[in-house]
Amino acid sequence: MIFTETRGNDGTRDAQISFSGALLSPIASFGGIYSPKSLTPLPPDFLGQHIESSYQALSLALLEYLDIDIESSVLRSALALYDRFDDPADPVPLAKIEDKLFVSELYHGPTRAFKDMALQPFGLILSNLAQQRERQYLILTATSGDTGPAALETFRDRPNIRVACLYPAGGTSDVQRLQMVTEAAANLKVIGIHGNFDDAQSALKSLLASPSFNQRLDELDISLSAANSVNFGRIIFQMLYQFHSYLALVRQQEIELGDEVVLHIPSGNFGNALGAYYARRLGLPIAKIVIASNANNVLTEWIDSGRYDLSKRQLIATTSPAMDILKSSNVERVLFDLFGAARTRDLMRQLDDNGWYQLEADEHDQISEIFAADFCSDEESMHYIKQAFDAGYLMDPHTATCFKSCRAPAFADRVNIIYSTAEWTKFAPIIDQAINGNRGQADRSALEAIAASANVEVPPMIASLFEKPVAHPDVVARQDIEAEILKFLET
Ligand SMILES: *Cc1c(COP(=O)(O)O)cnc(C)c1O
Repeated sequence: MIFTETRGNDGTRDAQISFSGALLSPIASFGGIYSPKSLTPLPPDFLGQHIESSYQALSLALLEYLDIDIESSVLRSALALYDRFDDPADPVPLAKIEDKLFVSELYHGPTRAFKDMALQPFGLILSNLAQQRERQYLILTATSGDTGPAALETFRDRPNIRVACLYPAGGTSDVQRLQMVTEAAANLKVIGIHGNFDDAQSALKSLLASPSFNQRLDELDISLSAANSVNFGRIIFQMLYQFHSYLALVRQQEIELGDEVVLHIPSGNFGNALGAYYARRLGLPIAKIVIASNANNVLTEWIDSGRYDLSKRQLIATTSPAMDILKSSNVERVLFDLFGAARTRDLMRQLDDNGWYQLEADEHDQISEIFAADFCSDEESMHYIKQAFDAGYLMDPHTATCFKSCRAPAFADRVNIIYSTAEWTKFAPIIDQAINGNRGQADRSALEAIAASANVEVPPMIASLFEKPVAHPDVVARQDIEAEILKFLET
């Protein structure tokens, strides 16, 4: 697999790189990113050969087909990490909700959110590349709640990697904060900062731009790397589970090989949706990819009208915070794949300069051929959580945003698969409100209330958080972050 730059080449970087190159440094010329140069559809008999394959075996076959420059033994060890999910024989179970409506649960990993699907194998591969190159890497990350825990969990005690994770103190759920501050390992540093997620992100940006910080990293011989959602090392593990859920439907005789399905994806930075897009490009029979949003519905507008417009928008805090995003970075890869580098550069420059762009009619037609979209208010999501609970299914507020689109008349006769991105345990207070009417409970009481109403257990990795010692008590002011991280690197 060859990677090339979404906005063309400015002469300062390689125009084409390998998968491992893209994984170690994802940023390309003109502020673009590296993206697959081309994708060749799978041979026609591929799906038929894998009806009985395990998740791990199917994934290995797909990755081998994609021909990435990672040794087979390393890929195998990376995929073996799915054995740590709840059911090693089926790490990504498919639940039937009603006739023609299924939920693929992407949250059965160690931190109970879909981020584990990619970050678990990614962590092992990155550490392995760092060891081969005999380099030390620092992963700097700012999190609004799900990426931080999953990144810390995957890099814990991994050789040649250190992680410094910034989170907004008071801006995450109790469960998310505890998942981070109780991660005790010598190579991990977690720092709360006063402020919200934007403050955490801008603190990270100024750190990356700080000459004194970069000079000290050089002296310590540490390179920077990133584990964010544009890194193709994450995307590649998000284009496999669509095949798995499709083949599960074939096995269960819900569809026949070749039948088309509709996928519904709760979207933020568009990484999960991009994986579905590539799965379709590889030939998986997908009629439409439906992008679900919350009140930050810039993607709904883009898909409905071809206009990507940030100019009149402010970020709205919703009950599905992992989707509170306006500039969805991975959309750029769809633009590149459909319209090429020159046009992508032009559109992204318009977005940066003017805050909006409008696709041409024929370009918008190509988008509409593949994608559909809808959005849910917080009230609607609460309603869907309650409705599903009454019918016997417990779900989180991100997943709930898909329940409007999947019942739209256009998809009523289709087989629909919703991709569920978080377990109920990560957003307990809002679910407690939806199903029990309790308002403003702390996570711990909300977890207990839901467990009692739904007659389920709080999984051990969540229940134990409240008893674990805090390893990272620090909450610091923005100007002290640099010193705090350097102190960690120097010890
Ligand atoms: C990250 C995340 C999303 C959004 O996924 P993208 O790939 O950024 O679109 C949705 N739901 C949950 C729970 C998440 O953690």
